[in-house]
Parts: sequence; C-alpha cells; structure tokens
Amino acid sequence: MKTRGQIYVFSGPSGVGKSTIIRKLRERITGLGYSVSHTSRGPRNNEVDGVDYHFVDRDTFRRMVKEKAFVEWALVYEEYKGTSFSSLDSQLDRGLDVILDLDSQGAGNIKKRFRESLLIYLLPPSLDVIEKRLRSRAADDDVEIDTRVKEAREELWDCIWYDYLIINDNLEKALRQAESIIISDRCRNDRALPEIKKMFDI
Ligand code: ADP
Ligand code: 5GP
Repeated sequence: MKTRGQIYVFSGPSGVGKSTIIRKLRERITGLGYSVSHTSRGPRNNEVDGVDYHFVDRDTFRRMVKEKAFVEWALVYEEYKGTSFSSLDSQLDRGLDVILDLDSQGAGNIKKRFRESLLIYLLPPSLDVIEKRLRSRAADDDVEIDTRVKEAREELWDCIWYDYLIINDNLEKALRQAESIIISDRCRNDRALPEIKKMFDI
C-alpha cells in the first residue's frame, strides 16, 4: 500500500499569483495533485468546469453542505467555496501530495483536521501590485476588483500563523522557494522512511 499523500495549502490575497504558482509547480514537480474546489461563483472567461472549479448553483452547494460532502467550506467574497472529501481523499489515498488553494478560514480548518499539512502564504511585494495584477488579469469587473483590493490589506494579517511565507515579486524566485518547501518536506524522516524501509527491507 502507498503511503498517504501530504497536503500543501496555498493562500494569499486575490491577484497575488496563487493559481500561476500552483500551475507551474505542478509542471515542475511529479506526484503533485490539485484539489478542485466547488463554488457558487460563475466561471470566468478562461475557466473550465471540473478543471478550475466545479461550478454549482447555490442550492446545490447548500445541499452538499447538509450532506457533509465538504472537508471545509467558506463564504469568500460572497460566494461559496469548498473542498469536497471526494476530491481530496481519492488523491491522498493514491499517495499523491495534494495542493489546495484556500482562503485563510479554509487553511485553518484543514490544519485542525490534518495537523501535518503545510500552510504556505503568498504575499505581494506591495499592495499596489495587487491592483495592477488584478487589472492585468482582466478576469473580474471593477466592483469585484475594488472589493478584493480593499480586503487585501486586512487579509495579509493572516500570514502570521502560516508555516511558510513567500513574497511573489519575481515569479521565478517565488517558484523556487515554493518548490524547495515541497521537496524538503518530502525528505523529512517520517515521510521518507517508509519507502526506504521497503527499499532495503529494514
Ligand atoms: P491568484 O490566483 O492569487 O488570484 P493569479 O495567479 O491569477 O492570482 O495572478 C494574477 C495575475 O498576476 C495574473 O495575470 C498573473 O499572470 C500575474 N502574476 C502572477 N505572479 C506574478 C509575478 N511574480 N509578477 C508579475 N505578474 C504576476
Ligand atoms: P477566486 O474567486 O479568485 O477563484 O478565489 C477567491 C478566493 O477563494 C481565494 O482566496 C481562494 O484561495 C479561495 N478559495 C478557492 N477555493 C476554495 C475552497 O474550496 N475553500 C476555501 N475556504 N477557499 C477557497
């Protein structure tokens, strides 16, 4: 039987670069899964159902909450977002390490349930950069961008209780830092030993 996978949670204000960094990490590191969340938010132009999110209506989301389908869920920027047991467990059971892109409520709930999970917070080099990136992404309307920019300052406080902090100024540098966290976590004695015991029959 494979050793159960590890959980890496990425958080940070909207526009900081979470999706970009997660996408590139998965290209560079083998054995990394991604938990596709459910949301009541509508898809953006380039978003694909089942890849970026499972897009569901509010009633379906609430029904899933009642049926206890979610490991964690939260209301983020007035839309429901949640991690389903089915999306997370199936990958962890196959021995895949799984990346989650969650707000800080979700990250806190995951840490309570999975003490060994690692929480990584991405920060911008400045708050002005957040607005520039959200506008250059051109995915949200002006009202939505204003809300996200206003909330960014408050949200940054949450970084104090995360395991790792990365400033995403230079993308390549931030990626190398994120990559190092995952690679060194995989070398930790308790994670590496089961495989080594099998290799040497010790
Ligand atoms: P999030 O998922 O955190 O909301 P995105 O990954 O969608 O953020 O990134 C927001 C925008 O910022 C995208 O257009 C992305 O290409 C850009 N971006 C991400 N990282 C950097 C960086 N280090 N420097 C400049 N632009 C970046
Ligand atoms: P966006 O609308 O830009 O895709 O995401 C907005 C915020 O929702 C981001 O902070 C992201 O981390 C968070 N988010 C996405 N999926 C989930 C989820 O399943 N649970 C929680 N708690 N937050 C999520």
